[in-house]
Amino acid sequence: MNEKPEKLIDKKGCRLDGRKADELRPLKLEVGVLANADGSAYIEHGKNKILAAVFGPREMHPKHLSLPDRMVIRCRYHMAPFSVQERKSPAPSRREVELSKVIRESLEPSLFVELYPRTGIDLFIEVLQADGGTRCASITAASLAIADAGIPMRDLVAACAAGKVDDTVVVDLFDLEDKLGVADVPLALMPNLNAVTLLQMDGILTPEEFEQAVNMAMEGCKKIYAMQKDALKTKYMAIKEEVEEE
Ligand code: ADP
Repeated sequence: MNEKPEKLIDKKGCRLDGRKADELRPLKLEVGVLANADGSAYIEHGKNKILAAVFGPREMHPKHLSLPDRMVIRCRYHMAPFSVQERKSPAPSRREVELSKVIRESLEPSLFVELYPRTGIDLFIEVLQADGGTRCASITAASLAIADAGIPMRDLVAACAAGKVDDTVVVDLFDLEDKLGVADVPLALMPNLNAVTLLQMDGILTPEEFEQAVNMAMEGCKKIYAMQKDALKTKYMAIKEEVEEE
């Protein structure tokens, strides 16, 4: 779709991909997909396809980066050259450096970093296909990968954006809505603790619209949280069946 559509929401309140304002894109989550990482997860969130891999907690290399009283979290968010329509340079862009930081900071509150002094975890996020909202989908997958690695955590982190397209506040914007819409509010939540770990805003909203967007994004996070727990259960049920067969 290269031409700018006149309206992003039709008279019936349907969005360009057929969703209602409060509807999430289809989601698929899978845990333990990589044999060589300590923990891993794969997410398909709409057309986004993202892999997350975790190593650690382990000794830091280089050693001088370790801290005497806590674990260090390193995070690399990377978009594959083939993940967007125009080939993206494989070198890290400013945006990827920023998103790596944002994702790390949204996951850190869920971890007991003080329990693992002088160690570090490495978090690798590979975006294979991007279609808007990759930071949120990355956080959702990375938190699952951390759980898969067996790293103790206060809660899973689920992330979802809401925003405004035309005159309507909608949840979970896809690429075109992100680019042509009025505002975008990505949010990450530890749903069991009801604690927000990421809140950003790009664009302009009235205070009422902002509140509506935050509430919608939080509802989205809660739905995603249920799917995260199901994905973890699915992995362990498969292991249970294997053990019982033996
Ligand atoms: P997020 O993916 O978290 O929404 P942005 O708002 O920065 O982050 O990006 C929105 C979308 O723009 C991305 O999901 C992706 O589909 C697209 N995009 C990002 N970088 C590029 C790029 N270098 N080339 C083409 N499209 C891109």
